[in-house]
Formats: sequence, C-alpha cells, structure tokens
Amino acid sequence: MKAAFFKEHGGAEKVLYADYRDPVPGPDDVVVRVRACGLNHVDMLLLDGRFPPPEGLPHVNGCEVTGTLESVGAAVTGLAPGARVVVFPGFACGSCEYCLRGERTVCVRYGYLGAHRDGGYAELVKAPAANILSLPDAISFETGAALPMAMLTSWHALIARAGLSPGQTVLVQAAGSGVGSAAIQIARLVGARVIATVGSDDKIEFARALGAEDVVNYRTHDFVEATKAWTKRRGVDVVVEHIGGETFEKSVYALTRLGTLVTIGSHDTHWGRMDLRHVYSKNLRIVGTNLGSILELRTILDYVVAGRLKPVIDRAFGLKDARAAVQYVLDRKNKGKVLLVP
Ligand SMILES: [Zn+2]
Repeated sequence: MKAAFFKEHGGAEKVLYADYRDPVPGPDDVVVRVRACGLNHVDMLLLDGRFPPPEGLPHVNGCEVTGTLESVGAAVTGLAPGARVVVFPGFACGSCEYCLRGERTVCVRYGYLGAHRDGGYAELVKAPAANILSLPDAISFETGAALPMAMLTSWHALIARAGLSPGQTVLVQAAGSGVGSAAIQIARLVGARVIATVGSDDKIEFARALGAEDVVNYRTHDFVEATKAWTKRRGVDVVVEHIGGETFEKSVYALTRLGTLVTIGSHDTHWGRMDLRHVYSKNLRIVGTNLGSILELRTILDYVVAGRLKPVIDRAFGLKDARAAVQYVLDRKNKGKVLLVP
C-alpha cells in the first residue's frame, strides 16, 4: 500500500509518501480502507521525537480514521467487508486494575492508533474489531474523521471530568484548534456560556460563530483580565486548557471559587506553574483527561446526525500531500481540523 510515513525525526520534510508494508491483521482485527484521517497535535510530537513512537521507526501517524472495512479477522463476528466505519483510537488491555474499574482511558497499557501502532496516514490500517463503530450514512467520511480525538476528548473533558452544568461559564483556550472548536460547541450544547481565546484576529469571528460570547486574542490582550471583565470579576467555572506553560498558570487565575481547570495536553511545554494559594483558598480542582469512552463516541455520532454538533473542518489534503498538510498544521494556519484523504 501507499502511506505517508517517517524514518527519522524532524519537521514536515521528514514525511515521505511511498510504498509501505501492508498491515498484517490478527484473528480479532479488521483492516480498514482509509477514506479520511484527521491530523492532530500528537502527530507532530511523534514526528519531531518529543513523543517517539513506542514501536520505533519507520512509523505511520494518524489516530482519527474513517473508512470501509476491507477485511475482517477469522474470530470477528458482526462486521462485514464494505461497512462504513469509524475507528475508536484508544487501546486498553481490559484486564488491569483500571480497566476492571471501567476506566479504560487510564489503562496501564493504554495505547493510541497512530502512536503505539501504525495509523491512518495510509491507504489501509488495522485495528481491533472491538474498536470499530458503524459510521452512520448521514455522516461523511471527512466529518467522521474529525470526531474520534478532538470532539471526544473535549466531550469527556467537559462532561465527564469537569461535570459542566447549564448556566456555568467556560474559558476555552485556542478556539481555532480541533479541541477548542469542539469544546465551544459542547459547552453551548450543555447550556453553558463561553469565552474563548484565539491567537490571531482572523479567528475571532470563527470563535463567535461557534457560540463564544466573547473572544480575546491572547497575543494582544491579557485573557485573565478579559475573563474577569466578562464575568464581572467573578472568574469562570471551568477552563479547557491544552497549551501549557504560562497559559496554564494564568488559566488558574481565571477560575472562580470551586472552579475546575481541565488539562487536555500541552502544546508549548509539559510544564506549568501555579500559585498554590489560589488552588487551596478557592478550593479549585485541577483535572487531567485524555480521550474518552467508546460509548461517548457513539453519543457524539448521535448528536452529529441530529445536527447538534458539527466538527469544524478547515481543509482536506490528498494523502500524497501529507507533507504539505503537516506543514500547514505546524504553521497553525488551520481553523478546525485538517484531514488527509487517500
Ligand atoms: Zn488495562
């Protein structure tokens, strides 16, 4: 098959488009013919070596995949070639303490499609049959490929981890990202009110159109001051944070008493400081999250079919143009998801 892979770490110039080994499925696996694959920030960490692929190089990125079933393993039941599917990107062992508690996202042997095994920047990808969900006809392959990481992660962060309620206020960092654009919509769906940050003025209208009441360019304005002004000095109930560094620290100061900061990832740095006095005196919660459950992904599919959630897609590149797609994301030119389409 053809795939976009890398043999050494670096920038977009390391992404090669060429022949690659076909996936070898086990009896419990399926092979998916990829129709669309979303790009994510984690892809960039895998590429540049900050998060080297655990299985080594060469490696194929791509954790958000939709397509049609090409073949199914001998032990797989209930799935047939040709079916339209979306792949749930998290792998759990099913037998560790946390899996047995039903908390598969913190499985001690957790892995991601496109990280711990080859992903969807390819014509074919294999996945366990247990990770396959039917993609409703009403959802295009492109739309479906924008759901399994960004939308699911934001959903789990706001609904399961932060326990967001109607009428609460939310600060969403980086509205132009997949996670940010999803978080605004999910917060509005719950009935919460949103202030969002963007990194350039041309993304302000974009964030407003998604449902943010107020939008602040964090490069030219202090988002803590803007959040305090928007909430009449109170602060927000929830912050969705996925930048790290100083953004993490300042996000803590944007919270009101009993507020929750949910940290989804760290773009700039893995480090973030905070003034502990804010945390204990305001009884704050700092909560980590990653991905979500396969049931939550199915719920999201229902909301997308109903037209209540719409993943924001910036543009799709051909698989052979993966290098250009990666550079486009590295340059932060996108408003919403960037996809590869074989
Ligand atoms: Zn486990």
